[in-house]
Amino acid sequence: MERTFLMIKPDGVKRGLIGEVYKRIESSGLKIVAMKMIYPSKKQAEDFYPKNEEWLMNIGKKGKKGYEDKGLKFKWDLKEYGLLVRSWLVNYLLSGPVVPSVIEGPNAIEMIRKVVGDTEPRQAELGTIRGDFSIDSYDLANKLERPVKNIVHASTSKEDAEKEINFWFKKEEFTSYKRVDEELISGK
Ligand code: ADP
Repeated sequence: MERTFLMIKPDGVKRGLIGEVYKRIESSGLKIVAMKMIYPSKKQAEDFYPKNEEWLMNIGKKGKKGYEDKGLKFKWDLKEYGLLVRSWLVNYLLSGPVVPSVIEGPNAIEMIRKVVGDTEPRQAELGTIRGDFSIDSYDLANKLERPVKNIVHASTSKEDAEKEINFWFKKEEFTSYKRVDEELISGK
């Protein structure tokens, strides 16, 4: 059994997509074991997104590729771009309530990333949350000096999942229950 962290970001909440997102997750067979609706504090928003070089460069590399794949010119230094996107993200997280949650199931991290889709909605496949419910792109977001509005955040690795779950949830906020279809889905 694996656990992952999934959060509806302010655009997802304000667009009324909470139910739609969790409908897809629940019907896939994955189980919600913790969930709440909160306004993040300034400190939480500031501390949530990593500041390390690798994370910043990765934002830069993904953004550059997104631009170049569409024949657009990418004009930033990779790390500076990462820092810029990070500052937009922190402000964005403070712009409304969010719904952090913990999802459990076999290969939960990989399965949730599949349900969520690519970071840039323009590239995300139809059938994924980001592909079905957003038309945003790096180019448009950057012109408007804001992060890509892609409805949800989802952990990308075991290490991130553990860190993010512990960042948003205390031990006593977890539940433990059996879904009636658990036997059919995961064989236990
Ligand atoms: P993901 O959320 O798919 O794991 P990242 O960790 O790379 O993606 O980025 C975190 C968030 O930052 C994204 O979900 C998106 O909202 C925003 N973001 C990422 N890259 C860009 C970009 N090039 N321009 C604007 N916003 C971006």
